[in-house]
Amino acid sequence: MTNKEMLTKRRDESTKAYLLQSIMRNGGWINAHIHADRAFTINREGFDVYQKQSLMEKWDTVDRLKAAMSVDDYYRHFSMAAERMIEQGVTAMGSFVDVDPVCEDRALKGALKAREVYRNDITIKLINQTLKGVIDPVARYWFDRGAAGVDIIGGLPRRDERDFGPGFGLKHLDILMETAKAQGKMVHVHVDQFNSDDERETEQLTDKTIEHGMQGRVVAIHSISITAHGAEYRQALYRKMKEAGMMVIACPFAWIDSPRREDRGPTRNSLTPVDEFSAYGIPVAIGTDNVSDYMLPFSDGDMWEELKLLITGCRYTDLDNVVRVATENGRKVLGLTVH
Ligand SMILES: [Zn+2]
Repeated sequence: MTNKEMLTKRRDESTKAYLLQSIMRNGGWINAHIHADRAFTINREGFDVYQKQSLMEKWDTVDRLKAAMSVDDYYRHFSMAAERMIEQGVTAMGSFVDVDPVCEDRALKGALKAREVYRNDITIKLINQTLKGVIDPVARYWFDRGAAGVDIIGGLPRRDERDFGPGFGLKHLDILMETAKAQGKMVHVHVDQFNSDDERETEQLTDKTIEHGMQGRVVAIHSISITAHGAEYRQALYRKMKEAGMMVIACPFAWIDSPRREDRGPTRNSLTPVDEFSAYGIPVAIGTDNVSDYMLPFSDGDMWEELKLLITGCRYTDLDNVVRVATENGRKVLGLTVH
């Protein structure tokens, strides 16, 4: 056997090859969280702008970009993301779409058109993104419009907490839960994104899930800041989450650029603690989050890269469960299987 043949053989027998084959045998990849409407909206020229701008300026850039996008533009970008997924053997994806005062319902219309075109190739569940919150009356109008047109109710409580003050994140969650209950839909919420012990959003989401009787219908996206709290807090939270039937989506690259800070706390990375969740029987799925846009300019929606980062960063070595993270758990969080 030549060295080249030996190398090919080793690759075929590698852990990566084993995982990829197992994922295909288990129904293919599920990308549980993506923002397909904004995918591939940054290019080399846009990157120069990205580099020079502060966070606030970046928000204005994104608003300008969204304001200029037509339904057809959104359809094209959403389609590029769908094709990127199909070529990797992704069989279902859950995509947030912006429905807000800036893009109104153009992203949703573009996404619905793409879903129809790709309906034989990939199952697409749509979730409304609430980038402008749900408290401001105009934002609320677009939230209601978006909620009626999507499969799953989406949320971002931090936005209202920031704009309106303490307590408005909880109010945001009440509005999501009431809407979801009235329409018989699941809820997906961006929580605990900043890897900081100032945040207890996963716990707040769990409490609200119980309060509204939404057990088994609510999914936390990210839940990174849990790891900034001590072991006792984490264990109590996992027990409560298990009781509430909570599920989680990890998007490993999304916050790996979490800035270095001088905070003290448990040593940790900025990844969703898939190892700890799994130990408590809480299903974790995986998603790419933003793909080549102003939030994540380097991400090209590669599912293997995401999975590799998650299992390496969390030293997560239970291969059967790793396959579930990439497949079965994704179907659970998108409501594609009964559990
Ligand atoms: Zn997201």
